[in-house]
Amino acid sequence: MFRSAALKLTFWYLAIIVALSIGFSLALYSLSSDDLTRNARRQVSFFKANLTPDDFTTYVRLREKQLHEDLGHIRDNLLIFNLIVLLTGGAASYGLARRTLRPIEESLEAQTRFAGDASHELRTPLAAMQTEIEVALRNPSLTKALAIKLLQSNLEEVAKLKALSDGLLRLSTTESKQVFDQEVPLKKVVEKAAERWDKIASTKKITIKTELSDVRTYGDEQSLVDLVSILLDNAIKYSPKNSEVSIRVYRKDKNAYVSISDKGIGIKAEDLPRIFERFYRTDSSRSKKHTGGYGLGLAIAKKIADLHGGSIEVKSARERGATFTIQLPAA
Ligand code: ADP
Repeated sequence: MFRSAALKLTFWYLAIIVALSIGFSLALYSLSSDDLTRNARRQVSFFKANLTPDDFTTYVRLREKQLHEDLGHIRDNLLIFNLIVLLTGGAASYGLARRTLRPIEESLEAQTRFAGDASHELRTPLAAMQTEIEVALRNPSLTKALAIKLLQSNLEEVAKLKALSDGLLRLSTTESKQVFDQEVPLKKVVEKAAERWDKIASTKKITIKTELSDVRTYGDEQSLVDLVSILLDNAIKYSPKNSEVSIRVYRKDKNAYVSISDKGIGIKAEDLPRIFERFYRTDSSRSKKHTGGYGLGLAIAKKIADLHGGSIEVKSARERGATFTIQLPAA
């Protein structure tokens, strides 16, 4: 599809170049031919007075031949010039057309991949629910206890689907970087996020250590809490029992930083550039059956950081834990 679009665009670019080149060539030819003819006429009228009639006739014949040859040269040169323009213009137009279409092609590919991944992720819980319901309906001795178990399992799947659709909705909104006028204390943001994960952390006997300076940024408090929550959720999810997660809030120059470090499974170097992509999950997180995630968390976190004019950096190595650092403009 993009090949034919590139060819079409090449055709139009080339048509414009060739039309301009032919237009200029015709104008140039007409000016040169006027000039040469005027010159020839001036010379002929000069020689008319100074030559015998016979010599003059021969001179006029020769002069006309000369004029034709000169015009012929100009025509040949212009033809060669236009052929060169056609060839180089064609190659340049094709290069330019591909360059123009590449970002569109990439974003369309990303959209298609996104839609494909999303439907795949939606399919799995839906198929699980369908099978469970079908099996239960075919069971003539379905007891109330079994039905309750089925509903509970369905409810879990529904909760997963809801989380997935919330994530997709959040990613699909096309907001760009915003200007916030509300000052948000990052200490409060971290405390609120830590509160969300307190219970789960204590079930895994994970201690959350904090070192929070009084630094502020401009932004939307709830979104910033969500951002820290995503990173904290991962830190806890990918950490072993009885370990420690530490959160630091500090200021350096004009920036505010929140760093979240864990001592968990870490991320392989080759996965690091891809973990912020939608639906990307590393093999280790899949194989170790860390369920509940769809690989959307970090993509959402990055989007929130971007909207606040900030960024997220990660440092990690396999089995060496991970440190995610959020950088935001300090208020
Ligand atoms: P998920 O819902 O799978 O956690 P995320 O987008 O939050 O999705 O993370 C993408 C992937 O990055 C995860 O599947 C996991 O492999 C890896 N990852 C993220 N945070 C950590 C961490 N703190 N330690 C190890 N791996 C991590």
